Amino acid sequence: MGRLQTYEGKGFAVTFDPDVCTHSANCVTGLPAVFDVSRKRWVDVDAASVEAIDAQIGRCPSGALQFVRRETAEGTNG
Ligand code: SF4
Repeated sequence: MGRLQTYEGKGFAVTFDPDVCTHSANCVTGLPAVFDVSRKRWVDVDAASVEAIDAQIGRCPSGALQFVRRETAEGTNG
């Protein structure tokens, strides 16, 4: 069984559940700088804009990837 992976960005997190992934490869072809399975920590949350990552995760057909908004501690909504 795989285990849920969490990748923390600034104001958001990406989670990945390997048990749910259907290997459609939408993520790696759509945003290869962020989703690169040749890395052990294969999701680089700093490699694209938050909007681009959120949009790409919305195209994950299985729901293995999830985009999670975080409350920011500082009042710097931007
Ligand atoms: S888009 Fe979703 S289902 Fe497809 S390979 Fe990526 S994580 Fe897996």
